[in-house]
Amino acid sequence: MKSVNDFLMPLGIYISVPFCRSKCTYCNFASGVFSAAQMGSYVDRLSADMKAVRAFAAEQGAEIPEPVDTIYLGGGTPSLLPAEELKRLLFNLRQEFKVLPKVEITVECAPGTITDAIIQTLTTRGVNRVSLGVQSFVDKEAASVARLHTREITLKDIERLRKAGISNINVDLIAGLPHQTRESWEYSVDQAIASGVPHVSVYMLEVDEDSRLGRELLAGGVKYHAHDVPDGDLTAEFYETACRKLDAAGIRQYEISNFAREGFESRHNAKYWTRQPYLGFGVDAHSMLPASEKLRGGGIDCVRLATTDAYDGFLAAPELAASPVATDQALEESFFLGLRLNRGVSLQQFEESFGTRVSAYSPIIAELVSDGLLVRDSDNLQLTPRGRLLSNEVFEKFILTQEPEQPAVPE
Ligand code: SF4
Repeated sequence: MKSVNDFLMPLGIYISVPFCRSKCTYCNFASGVFSAAQMGSYVDRLSADMKAVRAFAAEQGAEIPEPVDTIYLGGGTPSLLPAEELKRLLFNLRQEFKVLPKVEITVECAPGTITDAIIQTLTTRGVNRVSLGVQSFVDKEAASVARLHTREITLKDIERLRKAGISNINVDLIAGLPHQTRESWEYSVDQAIASGVPHVSVYMLEVDEDSRLGRELLAGGVKYHAHDVPDGDLTAEFYETACRKLDAAGIRQYEISNFAREGFESRHNAKYWTRQPYLGFGVDAHSMLPASEKLRGGGIDCVRLATTDAYDGFLAAPELAASPVATDQALEESFFLGLRLNRGVSLQQFEESFGTRVSAYSPIIAELVSDGLLVRDSDNLQLTPRGRLLSNEVFEKFILTQEPEQPAVPE
């Protein structure tokens, strides 16, 4: 078994910024439209939490490794923060944590919200990666889910970021938006490729049933274009088309939803899939920290910290909630998070970390291999292309002790 020191690898920090210009019709995340003063209070609370987290983690028997080698501001729309608040947030973070010079700092931005002052803040505060919530390069599709930007604005923002020195840019696309057709989807993927960005994320539309679009899908209606949402088979076809086109353009798939030119894979998100330690701050943020030697002796692998998922509750709530993760649960997570990566997981490494517990999965692995959902090459296990499409069904098989608990992966 590993000791806690084996897990003291660099730390990732995630900061949730739950502010949006308008509410996307498919989303029910605890985000909303807030005033600059409220954003200031929010940054105050984040800064106070950063100061308090070490003492709280120690009380819960969790270790906080340092230094920090990745920082990710997600949301929501962090680029909606007033530039002064964004500056203050990044400054306070560096005051509280030892940040490596080669840190990857990503900020999620919505096209059309990136003012010159924001660009200046990004470049002067060490931000070297921007993730753009584009979703579609077809204006009618973006507008149908209440995104406020156009293709032209997106392409201009990419150009402005590049001119300012930030060329490590991700474009998010969603397959399955209302009005999307084979032709329009191919157009969006082609535009993402032509824009020259080195990273593209492709998500299949997941409609929260408590969102406006979700309620319309269940109850019927025309206001949110629910009747124009492509069916599941067509959406899956869109996803496969994107995999093919991006690969042909040299933007290789490295995770179920993520594609990058070589060397541009997201270092921060890799921490979630490989269960490296991370600290999350803000509304609905999660942390995963190694357990102390004492807890590990009692069969605990790591400790999760979580905050409330409501803005008001977050400002009012006195502290984080902690939950220990037993070693058996940690092994399950290692399977279903690691299998998200195209490179798959190494059974030998799992045995080094988790010992004989790994053998309990042999019948499940054999069944999934025989069903064509996993491929096994010696001790390496990977999803097949069909397995990637049916990944939730595959991951459920690895849950022997608990309901799956996915970490807070940015939008
Ligand atoms: S999808 Fe993202 S940008 Fe849209 S409302 Fe939800 S959190 Fe805001």
